[in-house]
Amino acid sequence: MTAPLGEFDIIRRFFGSPPVRRDDVVLGIGDDAAVLKPPTGHELVLTTDTLVEGRHFLPGADPEALGHKALAVNLSDLAAMGAEPSWFLLSITLPQADESWLTAFARGLHALSARFNIQLVGGNTSRGPLSIGVTACGFVPAGQAVKRRGAQPGDCIYVTGTLGDAALALRIMQRGDNPATGEFAEIANRLHRPEPRIAAGMALRGLATAAIDLSDGLAADLGHLLEADRLGARVELSHLPLSSAFRKLSPLASLDWDLIVAGGDDYELCFTAPSSREPELLRRVTDAGCACTRIGDITDGPGLVLTDPDGQPYQPRRPGYDHFAG
Ligand code: ADP
Ligand code: MG
Repeated sequence: MTAPLGEFDIIRRFFGSPPVRRDDVVLGIGDDAAVLKPPTGHELVLTTDTLVEGRHFLPGADPEALGHKALAVNLSDLAAMGAEPSWFLLSITLPQADESWLTAFARGLHALSARFNIQLVGGNTSRGPLSIGVTACGFVPAGQAVKRRGAQPGDCIYVTGTLGDAALALRIMQRGDNPATGEFAEIANRLHRPEPRIAAGMALRGLATAAIDLSDGLAADLGHLLEADRLGARVELSHLPLSSAFRKLSPLASLDWDLIVAGGDDYELCFTAPSSREPELLRRVTDAGCACTRIGDITDGPGLVLTDPDGQPYQPRRPGYDHFAG
């Protein structure tokens, strides 16, 4: 029997030597607080998000994927602001010090941090029901953050990537299925390992009039963007980008639009820009490695009008996710 892991063993072994070493970190893990040097002429962009067992993921979830997702959902918020990631804190509550769980969790977390050059500079470790909180920081040149406010009537609305994949994976899993197909693996990956659209977000600076990331579903999140300026929008469901895996697993004949507009967990970006900027916008976002699709327009509103392929208005059955609703 090896000695049980204590709190400080956990910090030292799994989090104390992060793979990213930035030279704007004056003092990282090990003191009472981190000391950081923001670049001159920039503004800091700060966000936090927590994943709670039983709420955001099921008991027994793959710890490596949790390490990835806990950071990815925060990076997605930074992306939606046009920020370049720099530092993050990890606040983790664990029911027990399980070495193999921690090894896999740290692997997922550190691998994603290395890809986005974001350094773990501190955190907190305590015992309790499993919950993983990340606070992430990035920066933008002063005045260039892309906000929810700023869209204008007549602007076009765009999304990156494809919608509905994660929600379809979750629905299939909730039915108790785990199909051994390449298509299912693809959409399950979208659910467990979302890819934050950092480069696309940075490409929107000075070009997009407003942006938001899609965590609760297009209808709810685009709704937040519209509310910010009391605007409306027209979106054609037939324009929404679907992956080939999604089409294969959910044939168009039996398409459930709610999965696509209200399923959530897309972690794509939704943004607006005047149509005159479209060529430059599409070029920049594509150069950033993301597909980009125009899905509708901003109107005087108020409110979002979704139109189905028959030209009929579509009303999502579920509003966006609200932790305290009902
Ligand atoms: P304090 O009691 O002064 O808050 P702690 O004993 O909680 O400090 O933490 C010691 C050091 O380890 C601090 O630098 C803290 O930021 C860091 N730390 C604690 N838990 C984590 C974690 N899960 N990931 C990264 N750093 C952590
Ligand atoms: Mg202290």
